[in-house]
Amino acid sequence: MATPPPPTHAATDATSPESEAPVRATMAVPDADGRFGQFGGRYVPETLIAALDQLAEVYQKASNDERFWDDLRQLEKHFTGRPTPLYRAESLSRHARKHADKKNHGATIWLKREDLAHTGAHKINNTLGQALLAKRMGKKRIIAETGAGQHGVATATACANLGLECYVYMGAEDVRRQHLNVVRMKLLGATVIPVESGSKTLKDATNEAMRDWMGSVETTHYILGSVVGPHPFPAIVRDFQSIIGRETKAQSLRHMEAMPNAIVACVGGGSNAAGIFFAFIEDHDVRLIGVEAGGRSSNAGDHAAPLTLGSPGVLHGSMSYVLQDADGQTQNVHSCSAGLDYPGVGPEHSYWKDTARVEYTVCTDDEALAAFTLLARTEGIIPALETAHAIHEAVRLAGEMPSDQHIVVNCSGRGDKDVDEAARLLGIES
Ligand SMILES: *Cc1c(COP(=O)(O)O)cnc(C)c1O
Repeated sequence: MATPPPPTHAATDATSPESEAPVRATMAVPDADGRFGQFGGRYVPETLIAALDQLAEVYQKASNDERFWDDLRQLEKHFTGRPTPLYRAESLSRHARKHADKKNHGATIWLKREDLAHTGAHKINNTLGQALLAKRMGKKRIIAETGAGQHGVATATACANLGLECYVYMGAEDVRRQHLNVVRMKLLGATVIPVESGSKTLKDATNEAMRDWMGSVETTHYILGSVVGPHPFPAIVRDFQSIIGRETKAQSLRHMEAMPNAIVACVGGGSNAAGIFFAFIEDHDVRLIGVEAGGRSSNAGDHAAPLTLGSPGVLHGSMSYVLQDADGQTQNVHSCSAGLDYPGVGPEHSYWKDTARVEYTVCTDDEALAAFTLLARTEGIIPALETAHAIHEAVRLAGEMPSDQHIVVNCSGRGDKDVDEAARLLGIES
């Protein structure tokens, strides 16, 4: 591979307005083998190595080409609606202050409004970037995996806009549960392929998408949905999502006239968290906190918290923290939010955990549900259930921090998709 450009976080000019924040991406972390310390790498069949090499090379060239970033910047601005606002959540902060442990405690909470991005979540940042890469490679056919359908919808949206054919693998069980997103994908011109194997959910859809790719790499690009999978996917997805953190930094300096003291984000595969953390990795005064799905309990099968409760292993092509039993069999997972319901996590998060740069914690289903209602009632914002995990931790943390400090929460998505599930859990009659 060619000499990598300098790391994004070192090159970021924090004083520029967020719309002009430099988009210089990097492959300096991970190393040339795709390793973040002991994590990452490529654990895939031989047939995929050539495709991954080609992808890494095309991405390397694109990231050194201003025209590529200009094209992406235009789409982000006029199609996605970036920059998304950094919103001062005054009433939520007041609530935190009222419940603070001590006098003069209760930090101010700000929301990075990815829920206002087109299609209602951060996932579009990645799918647009990868769809542009596919065009560069001359690949007109796109495949993707999806769980709840959010990544499927974001992929179908990017494909419709850029004139690419789109096939989305989705567990048959999820097709049944997430009818609305199936219809959205079909309206956008995508073909949804129900997967009948295994538990008929995200893990099986991912296996099926990888199988397709092994036989179709010549014509097909696989748009992976989070900072997971074999190298170079974790670095590419992180770079496309890192616009969130670059905007946040510029907006913080303008609105708070300082860096935030802490940044909080929920962690499923880890893309929205990596996206907001990455620009701050070198800013050691800024605490970074990732929140995993604590589910019903810390017993095996009751949660989806590999960083907190798992151990290193291999899943979907890379080495990372994984929920597995003593024989290395992947464990079942549970979370009230479909987007966090995954037994693995991105390799870079595993590295950040082991190097103690990022703190990881859990939030239970009940706590997330309470935070979901709290944000709706205090601010008039219905968040995704995934996002509600981060909101809970931010409110708790704010109570421990002095009132002149600032917390930014990544508001990763809006909650329209979750209203039926929330109504069921909260006993709201419709
Ligand atoms: C998919 C999703 C997540 C979880 O995925 P990450 O890769 O961890 O970001 C979180 N929030 C929302 C709104 C999502 O749609």
